Amino acid sequence: MSIGRFVWNFGRQNRFTIHQRYRSCWSCGKNDNNLISNLFCSHCKALQKPDKAENYFCILGVKETYDVDETDLAKKYKDLQKYLHPDKYANRDQKEQEISAQYSSIVNDAYKTLLEPLARGIYMLRLRGKEIPENTEADQEFLVKIMEKNEEVEEASTEEDIIKLNKENKAMIKDLQKKLSTAFFDGDLKRVTKLLTYMKYYTSIDTQIETAIRNKGIIR
Ligand SMILES: [Zn+2]
Repeated sequence: MSIGRFVWNFGRQNRFTIHQRYRSCWSCGKNDNNLISNLFCSHCKALQKPDKAENYFCILGVKETYDVDETDLAKKYKDLQKYLHPDKYANRDQKEQEISAQYSSIVNDAYKTLLEPLARGIYMLRLRGKEIPENTEADQEFLVKIMEKNEEVEEASTEEDIIKLNKENKAMIKDLQKKLSTAFFDGDLKRVTKLLTYMKYYTSIDTQIETAIRNKGIIR
């Protein structure tokens, strides 16, 4: 493929032109101001190393928001993995093969983190310089509620019960997502931390329910 054609493809699809990078190419040493994409050198077309300064949103080329568009996220992920697929580098030099493997693994981590509401929230909180303290516990009243929910899931024996619990719990997580979105928008990190603590418990119930669904062979 000629460079011209390459540029045209990228220009038309507008995939990786979120921001420019002005670094020199590890392979040919030229300054890549003549941007084709974030991925390849415009001079020698070598795959570039992932930029350590870029956060997961930048890497995947999606808007940085808690209300991430899952369809867009999945599309960007698939597109990137297509360009980073090991088969494409089978005949390239060793270094480029290593970069593609490293890049691909970062893209996988980014996708997994941004797709999952709890992981996304924790990651966004970390981007703002905060962590959820390890020994944080929710308030007593909440913990009692969660313990009861746990028991309900353990004791649920019929398919109908499990499906009902699943529906309820998924709705709780959705509701927390909405609240988290507002809290992030308001920059209220204290509230974000509290909501993420709640979400941790509901996510663990979700895992428990999903296991029950698999074990009982329930088809949804
Ligand atoms: Zn180059």
